Amino acid sequence: MAHWLDTGKRNLKVAVYLLCVTVVIAFALSNTHTLGSAGRIADDVRAGDERHLVRNEIDRQVEILVFDQARISHWDEAVRALIAHIDWDFVRDEIIEWHWEDFGIQTTVIVGPDGNPRLLIFEEDVRAEAEAVKYVELAADLVALARDAYKTHRQPAGGGFRVAYNPVRSHQPLFVSDIRPVDGQLTMIVAQAIVPDDDALLPDGHANILLTFKPLSAPILSEIGRKLGLQDFAILPAADVPADADWIRVGRSRGADAIAVTWMRTYPSSVIWRQALPLLAGGLLLVAIALGFVALRFGSSLLRLQQSEERNRFLAHHDALTGLPNRAQFEREIEQVLQHSEQQRCAVLCIDLDRFKEVNDTWGHPVGDLVIRTVASRILAAVGDRGMAARVGGDEFIVLLREGLDPGSVLALCERIVAGICSEIVFEGGSATVGASIGVAWWPDDALTSRTVIRSADEALYRSKREGRGRTWFATGPAEPASPEPSGIGPPRPAA
Ligand code: GH3
Ligand code: MG
Repeated sequence: MAHWLDTGKRNLKVAVYLLCVTVVIAFALSNTHTLGSAGRIADDVRAGDERHLVRNEIDRQVEILVFDQARISHWDEAVRALIAHIDWDFVRDEIIEWHWEDFGIQTTVIVGPDGNPRLLIFEEDVRAEAEAVKYVELAADLVALARDAYKTHRQPAGGGFRVAYNPVRSHQPLFVSDIRPVDGQLTMIVAQAIVPDDDALLPDGHANILLTFKPLSAPILSEIGRKLGLQDFAILPAADVPADADWIRVGRSRGADAIAVTWMRTYPSSVIWRQALPLLAGGLLLVAIALGFVALRFGSSLLRLQQSEERNRFLAHHDALTGLPNRAQFEREIEQVLQHSEQQRCAVLCIDLDRFKEVNDTWGHPVGDLVIRTVASRILAAVGDRGMAARVGGDEFIVLLREGLDPGSVLALCERIVAGICSEIVFEGGSATVGASIGVAWWPDDALTSRTVIRSADEALYRSKREGRGRTWFATGPAEPASPEPSGIGPPRPAA
C-alpha cells in the first residue's frame, strides 16, 4: 500500500516535471511555428510586391518610350513631313536633334506602306536604307501588328483617314511593343503608325510605321534596381536566370527565346527572425524559469508530504522516543509468530525499570528520556538477533525471544539485560543508575495465545517486583529440566 502510494507520488512528480517541460517545448514550438509562418507569409507578400513593382517599372519604361515616340508619330507635322515625301529638315530638327537626342533613342526606322524601310536613323545619323532592312526584319511581326491596329481603328474623314482618339492613351492603342535582342543587347522596340493629331489626313492603304529601338542599357537597369531597392537587377534570356534569383518574363517571346527580368529576392523573414528571436528566447527563458519554479515547489511539497507520511506511518508502529516497535506492533508480530511460523516454542520477557521515577525526580524528564533511550539500546544489544524488543509503556519493555529458549540460556540473557541496564548512564552534568526487573513466560508451556503469554510474563514481572526488584521471575516455564537456578536472580521456578 505504502509502496503503491510512493510510486504514485513519484509518478505524479515525474508527470508534473514532464508537463512543465512539455509546456516549455510547446511554447517554443508554437512560437517558432508562428514566426516561421509569419516569415513565410512576409516573404511571399514581398515576392509578390517585388514582381508587381518590376512589372510596372518595365511597363513604365516601355510607356515612356511610346510617349516619346508619339511626339512624332501622332502629329500633323510628321504626317506632312514624312508620309508623301521625307522632309530632311524635319528629320534633322525634330527627330535627330530634338526628340531622339533628348530621349536616348538609339534607332528609328520608318517603314513604308509597301513594307520597305524609307528612313533609318542610327545614333543620330541618317543611314542608308539598305542598313534598315535588318531592323525591319527584326520587327516585321510588330510592324504587321501596328498596321493591323491602324486598319482596325482608322476612321474616314474628309478625303482620307485619321484616328479619332489618342493612339497611346486609348484602351485600343495603335502601338505594339516588345523587348528583343538587337546586336547582342536587349532592346525595347515600339512600332506605331504615323497618324495626325489634328486636321491632317492620311491616304488610303497601309500606314507608315515608325519603329523605335531603345536599348535597356546597364545604367538604365542599375537605375531601375536602385529605385526599386532590388539587387542584381538585370534583363537576360530566361534560360540564363540564376537558380537563386527571382524573375518575371517580359516581352512577347516564349519558350527558348523568352526574356526575363531578374533580381535577387529580399526575405523579410530574416529581419523578423533577427528581431523576434531575442524576444522569443527571453520569453522562453521566463516561461522555463516560472514553470521550473512551480515544478520545484511542487516537488519539494510532495517530498515534504512523503516524509511526513513516512514519519506518521513509522510512528503508528513505533515508539517516538526510542524508535523501537510499540505495543501494537509487538502484538502483531507475536501473533504472526505464534500463528504462522514454524516456531515450536518462544519466550516473552517483560522488563520494567526499578525506581525510574527517582531519575525523573532527580535529574528531570530530559535525562529520564536519555535513560530510556540508553536502556532501549542496551536491551537491543543484549537480545541481538535472538528475538525482537519493543517499548510498551513508560519504563516498560518487552522482548519476544525465538532462540536459546532453554531456561538456563534465558536466565543468562536476563542477567545480561539486567546487568546492562544497571550499568551507569553518564550524561552531561552527571550520571544515573537504574535497575530492572524481568518476568518471563514461555509459549506454549505457560500459555497458548499471544495475549495470555504476555499476561503470564507480566504477572511474573509483578512477582519479581514484589519479591524485591532487580531479579528475574519465571512463570510456569518449559517442561524440560532447567539449568540450576542462580541465586539472587529470582525464586525457584515452579515445577512443571
Ligand atoms: P517501580 O520500581 O515500581 O517500577 O517504580 P518506578 O519508579 O519505575 O515507576 P513506575 O514503573 O511505576 O512508573 C514509570 C514512570 O516512568 C512513570 C513516569 O513518571 C515515568 N515515565 C513514563 N514515561 C516516561 C517518558 O517517556 N519519559 C520519562 N522521562 N519518564 C517517563
Ligand atoms: Mg518502573
